[in-house]
Amino acid sequence: MPGPALESFFFDDVHYAIARDAARVARERMAPIRDRFESGAADEDEAARAFTRELGAAGLLDLCVPEDFGGRFPLVDLRALCVVREALAYESGFADTCFVLQGLGGYPMALPHVRDGSEPTALSKEWLPRVARGEAISAFAVTEPEAGSDLAACSTRARREGDQWILNGEKTFISNAGVADFFTVLARTSELPGAKGLSMIFVPASTPGVRVERFRVIAPHPIGKVIFHEARVPVANLLDAEGGGMRLALSNLDLFRTSVGAAACGFARRALDDSIARVKTRSQFGKPLSEQQLTRAALAEMATDLEAARLLVYRAAAAQDRGASRLTSAVSMAKLFATEAAQRIVDRAVQLHGGLGVVHGTTVERLYRDVRALRIYEGTTEIQKLVIAKGLLEI
Ligand SMILES: Cc1cc2nc3c(=O)[nH]c(=O)nc-3n(C[C@H](O)[C@H](O)[C@H](O)COP(=O)(O)OP(=O)(O)OC[C@H]3O[C@@H](n4cnc5c(N)ncnc54)[C@H](O)[C@@H]3O)c2cc1C
Repeated sequence: MPGPALESFFFDDVHYAIARDAARVARERMAPIRDRFESGAADEDEAARAFTRELGAAGLLDLCVPEDFGGRFPLVDLRALCVVREALAYESGFADTCFVLQGLGGYPMALPHVRDGSEPTALSKEWLPRVARGEAISAFAVTEPEAGSDLAACSTRARREGDQWILNGEKTFISNAGVADFFTVLARTSELPGAKGLSMIFVPASTPGVRVERFRVIAPHPIGKVIFHEARVPVANLLDAEGGGMRLALSNLDLFRTSVGAAACGFARRALDDSIARVKTRSQFGKPLSEQQLTRAALAEMATDLEAARLLVYRAAAAQDRGASRLTSAVSMAKLFATEAAQRIVDRAVQLHGGLGVVHGTTVERLYRDVRALRIYEGTTEIQKLVIAKGLLEI
């Protein structure tokens, strides 16, 4: 829930209502799916589908798309996304991932309309309302084995033949690979060098010539390679002007990057709450750990780190919602600080739990795995620093 420091600055009444609703959905509808998955009663794919379906049924996924496509607000409201991500991450990083991927994978279809007021395409009108209801699962496919931080090195090709694009190449680290109904794919459509030759194309997962190879990462969710071999889609599946792919991919990431910081705050807040509960009940040397000054110092530092992270995240989100310009540094600072702070906070939570903190199945052990990738995806910590420094030096 939004804390006292944030109340007067960044939120409207609607954000409190959404935060309360999301916390209830997380507790009552996400936690049972998480528990089934962790007990082995549901596999990764079943859990991902169940999370997405329930998030849609609970009416939260309509926050991931604009009103013209079945969404709740005229434009995607970033503070709403952030309070939902914080609430979901508090209960389950997996559920949070399923939530945000509906936006990350689907939003590129809405972006040209949002940006220019152009007519919504038949494709976006067909698919986005289904994304908003949790009936179609999205994935955003930009990373490649040789194009990670440097997306302009993308080498997946789409050549045009008549009224079709034919894709060849390989994407990797694609979240939802294996359960997604479609991918929004960054591909090279011309010989122009670097970013200029890139476009985004909508590719249904059922397209012949699309193959998924799964691998496992530190915190479970469906993820893997997506390999295209002579995969044919209609020319109308181009999502923006030809050559506009990099701009589209970066605008999409710009919208969602701040919310990665919000998910980090959800993990950190859970770690802090569980630590407070633990040190009050665990006694050593004849008294509760909470009465040791070093323990108190740890809690105070964790809480201060968390509050600073939330201020940066919700400041950036509020500024984005209010249409402020020149926000690149504020967004990068929010993502950088919140994900690094959350890692520190979760690490201290493990320490405060002692040996219990590394026992498989405890909440802080799960948080320790959940939090790690946030410093890597949607622009690593190092890339955020480069962005912030570029703004400072105006280069
Ligand atoms: C769990 C997870 C989920 C993901 N989901 C998706 C997804 O759904 N869709 C998708 O397209 N991608 C996804 N990714 C990919 C993610 O966006 C990339 O991993 C990320 O952009 C980094 O690319 P890379 O892994 O190739 O690392 P690299 O770019 O090879 O970087 C390796 C290291 O070098 C550093 N580095 C790179 N360039 C510089 C520089 N110029 N100066 C200093 N340091 C530098 C990086 O910060 C990093 O520490 C996901 C990744 C993970 C881990």
